[in-house]
Amino acid sequence: MKYATFSPPTDPAAMRLGIVAGDRVIDATAFRTKWPSGGFPSSLLDLIIAGPDAWRRMADLTAGSTSDAHSFAAKDVRWRAPILRPRKNVMCLGLNYFNHLVETSKPLNREIKTPDAPIFFTKPPTAINGPYDPIPWDRSVTEQVDYEVELGVVIGMEGRNIRSDRALNHVFGYTIVNDVSARDVQYRHKQWFKGKSLDGFCPMGPCIVTADEFGDPQNKRLSLTVNGEQRQHANTSEMIYGVAAIIEWLSRGLTLEAGDIIATGTPEGVGLGRKPPEYLSDGDVVEAAIEGIGAIRNEVKAI
Ligand code: MG
Repeated sequence: MKYATFSPPTDPAAMRLGIVAGDRVIDATAFRTKWPSGGFPSSLLDLIIAGPDAWRRMADLTAGSTSDAHSFAAKDVRWRAPILRPRKNVMCLGLNYFNHLVETSKPLNREIKTPDAPIFFTKPPTAINGPYDPIPWDRSVTEQVDYEVELGVVIGMEGRNIRSDRALNHVFGYTIVNDVSARDVQYRHKQWFKGKSLDGFCPMGPCIVTADEFGDPQNKRLSLTVNGEQRQHANTSEMIYGVAAIIEWLSRGLTLEAGDIIATGTPEGVGLGRKPPEYLSDGDVVEAAIEGIGAIRNEVKAI
């Protein structure tokens, strides 16, 4: 299943739960009256929190419902971030691909050394942005806006102290995240949080592909272009800490909850690693793609 959050052309302010079926988006709201005893999950986050019985029910209810009465052409809807406002910060991995660690260590005069444990930081809910919406660039705040394509993991089953061999059972699905970064702000403050957290600096989507459909998260191509020019191209097999290991490390003494989002780090090819470094400018179009999910495309817009 591919789940999305969208606004229909007939009601541009509404936020609807959608199921992507080819070039159609099925409107789950059309099945509200068929949901037993109320409690219809009106958002994707609500559905994820409702658990596996609700996931199966939604899949059964909406299967094949691509008639005009129940769905819209995908090109006609406004695609929103699949989870509009996560309940906590997006949890992110730093330096989780070796070649990216190398490219960023050189300009920063940092020792090239694989981390002994994952590096974690977060991005706040206010950074979440739609899959095709502009990335706001406040030039009074940063002159060094950079991109990072990353596989996003959405937790489905709550857990703590999750062993790596059970970890993937806790995943609801996968999405694309662009971990947009203000490099000057990121390094000015030592901790990365601020430079990673500006408003709109976490575009995500266009959908969440359920874990059963996505398959092995360590064998997917990911890539990123700027104005059509390829800048990043790698495979998730190159992660230093794979998704299962990340969940084991993160969940030690820390409860992961349904709807939590983990961004798993970016491969080489970021603007900081270019010689000389090359950052995004007003009007640049950044497209981040992952095999099995699709692509998100965001224009940088000076504000
Ligand atoms: Mg990143």
